[in-house]
Amino acid sequence: MKVTVQVVLHADDDTQTVVREAFTLTRAALAPDTLGLQLQEAKDLLAAVQDTVVEHQVSTALSAQITCPDCGTPHRHKDSRRIVMRTLFGTLRLDSPRWWACPCTPRPGVRTFSPLAAVLRERITPELSYLQARFAGLVSYGLSADLLSEILPLGRALHATTVRRQVQATAQRLEDELGEERSGFITGCPADWAELPRPDLPLVVGLDGGYVHSCTQRTRRDGWFEVIAGKAMPADGRPSCFGYVQTYDSKPKRRLFEVLASQGMQANQQVTFLTDGGEDIRDLPRYLNPQAEHLLDWFHLTMRITVLTQLAKGLRCQSERSANITQELQRVKWFLWHGNVFRARHTVDDLTTDLTDDVGVESGKLAKAIREFGGYLAANACAIPNYGERRLAGEAISTSFVESAVNQVISKRMVKKQQMRWSPRGAHLLLQIRTRVLNNTLTDDYRRWYPDFTHTTDQEHLAA
Ligand SMILES: [Zn+2]
Repeated sequence: MKVTVQVVLHADDDTQTVVREAFTLTRAALAPDTLGLQLQEAKDLLAAVQDTVVEHQVSTALSAQITCPDCGTPHRHKDSRRIVMRTLFGTLRLDSPRWWACPCTPRPGVRTFSPLAAVLRERITPELSYLQARFAGLVSYGLSADLLSEILPLGRALHATTVRRQVQATAQRLEDELGEERSGFITGCPADWAELPRPDLPLVVGLDGGYVHSCTQRTRRDGWFEVIAGKAMPADGRPSCFGYVQTYDSKPKRRLFEVLASQGMQANQQVTFLTDGGEDIRDLPRYLNPQAEHLLDWFHLTMRITVLTQLAKGLRCQSERSANITQELQRVKWFLWHGNVFRARHTVDDLTTDLTDDVGVESGKLAKAIREFGGYLAANACAIPNYGERRLAGEAISTSFVESAVNQVISKRMVKKQQMRWSPRGAHLLLQIRTRVLNNTLTDDYRRWYPDFTHTTDQEHLAA
């Protein structure tokens, strides 16, 4: 059996049609593996249709501009160049003519023009650029390249570096759209804020730091750098995540402000920041909202106590002593749960004094860790609320009730393999794409840039 697929091209006024044969396939007797189209045939078919359609589009566009709009004289041909357009269905090599400008209406500085190159400024279709970004937001650049090549008739080998470059260009475009950084984002005065409609319940923002491998490692110490990940959770509605590289980003406050604004934050709204108490993110909240409160995330606080408890349990040959320390640490936890920072710190100080008199390697390690914990409590004392009361009142005390931001935003994509290494810029730009993919807002950006971009994600498609 032989099947031919034809493309019928209609003129705009429907007066004439052109029929082009695009694709032919032959089939043996019906069997599971001869049923319908196979992937390679589908790819060939799509590429052939794409070629035919684009050729028609280009010639229609050029013939519409061949004559001068002022006097009707055809433009004289100067030369032509080959432009390469990468599309989902093939790499197209198009002849782009350069024409002389018509002498009837001289325009200073314009002697020639290239109508096709003027329309196709970017040499990639938005949809291919979008898919590269979407895949690379979820899996590695290499895997993204492989997946797209396997499924689509790209017409040219797609390499990990090509995907990376394209994705970074998209991210840079988004970065360029971000407004200027300011020292603070609190505007207006309290009297104006009172006039605003009553806001919803507090907006909860979790901020946390994680580490990724550096690609410029020279010593063991500079092998990692910090990446900040966060999640804004409105009382109802979808949470949205964000991320940035502290040492690269010049606009962290603006970035966070935009995330909160997109979540409907207004000046009279209470915003609760839950952080791990890290130095560099502690200060961020106070620039963003007059009603911001900063609290130590309960999950992070207890994690530290758990680590200390494990160290204490590891003290060999001192089971009684180790049990004592463990018990004291439980008291510290209990004090902290009730916001009693004074007694928690007191207990930690006592433990430190006891342990410092001790000799022995393990207790030395534990003493150091407990002393550091004391310093951590001192630095974050005013960010430790009465967690028990807050919990009873239904207020947020931790961000870990949803998946931790660091794990979701950073770890899954950027640290799961030891050989993944990053530059601060590369990590920062990828984070801008990844967070948009996770928030399901990347298509919105493409629709803003390209009004006829109609791609919908699977979720959007199913919802429709
Ligand atoms: Zn003219």
